[in-house]
Amino acid sequence: MNSMTQLQPVTIFKDQFGREKRKLRISVTDRCNFKCVYCMPEHPEWMKKHNLLSFESLYNFCEFMVLRGIDQIRITGGEPLMRQGVVHFIQQLQQLRKLGLKRISMTTNAHYLKQYAHALKQAGLDGINISLDSLDEAQFFQLTQKQLQPVLDGIEAAQQAGFEIKINSVLIKGLNEQQIIPLTKWALQKGFELRFIEFMPLDGDQNWSKAAVVTEQNILDKLKTVFEVQTLHGQGASPARSYLINGLPIGIISTISNSFCGSCDRLRLNAQGEFFNCLFARKGLNLSHEIQQLKSSKTTELMPHDAMALQQKLGSYIWQKEQGFHAITAQSSPSRKISMHMIGG
Ligand code: SAM
Ligand code: SF4
Repeated sequence: MNSMTQLQPVTIFKDQFGREKRKLRISVTDRCNFKCVYCMPEHPEWMKKHNLLSFESLYNFCEFMVLRGIDQIRITGGEPLMRQGVVHFIQQLQQLRKLGLKRISMTTNAHYLKQYAHALKQAGLDGINISLDSLDEAQFFQLTQKQLQPVLDGIEAAQQAGFEIKINSVLIKGLNEQQIIPLTKWALQKGFELRFIEFMPLDGDQNWSKAAVVTEQNILDKLKTVFEVQTLHGQGASPARSYLINGLPIGIISTISNSFCGSCDRLRLNAQGEFFNCLFARKGLNLSHEIQQLKSSKTTELMPHDAMALQQKLGSYIWQKEQGFHAITAQSSPSRKISMHMIGG
């Protein structure tokens, strides 16, 4: 294969609504050291270690997907920094840039970031999204069962390492909605892009209710009591609607009140090889076996039989991707029980 043909994707995966798939989220573990109330069940049943895909298999799958149009990969979890070898994996992914990969990022709770920030930068990670839902120590503990300080230290270390940082904050009515203004002031002062996320029905113990959602409108109303908020138009494929406060972007991911699904270009793989065409998909596709059979295609010109079979299976599943969150929840078929820690946000 010469370098010119390598840059042309074999095919670009598309769904029935014409949305091309460009982003892949890989959950490398379902384990987490936090117990966020909106995510982790009280009694998690962890995936068995021997069922997790090896980094070699994950790499081969990433290569397979980059050759089919994926240009951004996000590493998530569970807590991705809890899986040993993740830094090396990011280093390996650099090889995919010559095949068309443009961006490698990670979503983390930042607890271990002080330890890893420098190595992650050296490994070639482009960006980090950090989850932080409260700047109040006692409330942070109530939300996560962990201390706030290591997270703040991790954020500082990431900043020192030269990372572009985005902060994700999930808001829950009656719990941390009072954090809208403190978090915004803090992010503005630090120069971080802040994104508020509406609470989604993906909590492990299924306690979600619409009444607990702090909506995009609630957030805007609150922000406007203190700041001048400017609306930015042109959301593109981003899940967040963007606003400007004092020249800095603030995003709101309003899946529940004002869903972002219209231009969704994302696909997801969990740590044991289950593939999802949507965060809310009723059914995943178990690709564990096929992914383990994949070989790196670097040395071959023809598409091997295994890769061809996987492409067909994936293509047909991706094609069936539903229109979005509201279309899926309107269906009468039972929803799959899944919490965010199993699939990655
Ligand atoms: N452990 C890492 C972290 O917390 O950043 C990565 C995995 S976590 C599942 C990814 C993202 O999902 C986080 O930003 C988290 O806030 C978000 N999340 C988890 N459960 C959620 C829910 N029920 N509704 C909305 N966002 C949720
Ligand atoms: Fe862990 Fe992230 Fe879920 Fe919190 S949101 S419990 S940090 S996986």
